[in-house]
Amino acid sequence: MPNYCDYHMHSHHSFDAKHSIREMAEAAVQAGLSEICFTDHIDFEDPNWRDVPADLPAQRAEIEREQPSLQVKVLHGVEIGLSPNASFAAQSISYVRTAEPDFIIGSVHVVGTQNAYRPEYFAEREREEAYTQYIMEIAAAVRTLPQLSVLGHYDFVTKRAPYSERAMRYADAPEAFDSVLRYLAENGKGMEVNTSAWLDDPAWGLDVLSRFVELGGEFVTFGSDAHVPERVGRRLLEAHALAKAAGVRYTATFRGLTPRFIHL
Ligand SMILES: [Zn+2]
Ligand SMILES: [Zn+2]
Repeated sequence: MPNYCDYHMHSHHSFDAKHSIREMAEAAVQAGLSEICFTDHIDFEDPNWRDVPADLPAQRAEIEREQPSLQVKVLHGVEIGLSPNASFAAQSISYVRTAEPDFIIGSVHVVGTQNAYRPEYFAEREREEAYTQYIMEIAAAVRTLPQLSVLGHYDFVTKRAPYSERAMRYADAPEAFDSVLRYLAENGKGMEVNTSAWLDDPAWGLDVLSRFVELGGEFVTFGSDAHVPERVGRRLLEAHALAKAAGVRYTATFRGLTPRFIHL
């Protein structure tokens, strides 16, 4: 893979992953990546997650220890769980401030009180309601964290969705999508092309990314959302092709939350 970056992965500093920085980074070298960013979880909203936020100083120390002998540049990032309740964003920012991350993904995992990864979320909802409510939750939550670099996985809700038509489409929630995409574009934020929700299905997202560009959006980052080494860098070639086809102009790398734009 030609000098690609994977800007979304988890190490054992996340409560739901168990591999070291070195194990994940060596997989990135194998995949031919030039740069990776660890985005370990902080989520103060989900009751199962709130007591186990990533220890960011420990993550940074491990990266600094391993970096000299790794053939890939490793960045220090975080994935913050977004909520319409702004107190969670405030708590997250105060938690990460001293850690000085390179990159912040803002992601919605919880809708109301239910994590959209769990079967209960789908038990009470038809597809239209499940998908629309998820995008509406992003629209309400994304504004609470102006520090975010990119919006993570707008299609997280599809991961465990039990519907035959699993792909997320712009047409599933056009008004809520416009609210999200316009906010990102107007505030110089990026979208993430996250390959994990595709599973083994055909890639999707051309419609959503095209609309982002139409509304003035300029850049995306790419992420496998790998929690295990085998997933690092997965389907990033397709993700790049998709972004280009949608007319996205740039991807970006980050240092200390400052983007450096790279032409796609
Ligand atoms: Zn996530
Ligand atoms: Zn993640």
